[in-house]
Amino acid sequence: MTVAWLGIGANLGDARQTLKDAVVCLAQQHTLSVVAKSSLYRTAPIDAGGDDYYNCVVKIETCLDVHALLGLCQRVEHHFGRERPFRNAPRTLDIDILLYGALRIDEPDLIVPHPRMTGRAFALVPLVEIDPELVIPGLGPASAFLTAVADQRIEKVKPMCQCLGIASTPDVPPPDNCR
Ligand code: AMP
Repeated sequence: MTVAWLGIGANLGDARQTLKDAVVCLAQQHTLSVVAKSSLYRTAPIDAGGDDYYNCVVKIETCLDVHALLGLCQRVEHHFGRERPFRNAPRTLDIDILLYGALRIDEPDLIVPHPRMTGRAFALVPLVEIDPELVIPGLGPASAFLTAVADQRIEKVKPMCQCLGIASTPDVPPPDNCR
């Protein structure tokens, strides 16, 4: 099993509800376990127009290799109606692989650690909330990058349940056909 970190964001429709449903959807997958999730954050769009985003980060354990994990993330995005009309378009759901164990890869369709995570408060703040000591492979402590993003607007909306075992106690009904 590998520990990985996913960044989840949405800014279309009922973005807050979509985010919660997406975490439940991930937790229902038999190929991964959600072992921690951050609070929910409301953030300003970066390099994009549209409404504010809702963001969170989940820490998972998974038996999937990193490419299969990306495929799963994209299927969950699709399930929630994600379309990609243009770069940085508003999105019903965006799931990024921020970290995958100690892996460092740079391929055309997959770069890990996520190449923009150190410049984005919406990724760093929830990561550090879950694990203040977290080290980004090849880059050092995640907390060291917080100062540089301090001007990006981010506010904690409401503490999400930090408990383990979300699959057995979902706080919202599981979405239909979420497999
Ligand atoms: P986005 O529009 O932000 O969802 O970007 C999606 C594209 O980024 C997909 O084509 C992925 O193949 C690519 N990508 C590269 N690295 C990553 C990563 N670490 N996590 C998720 N998508 C990635």
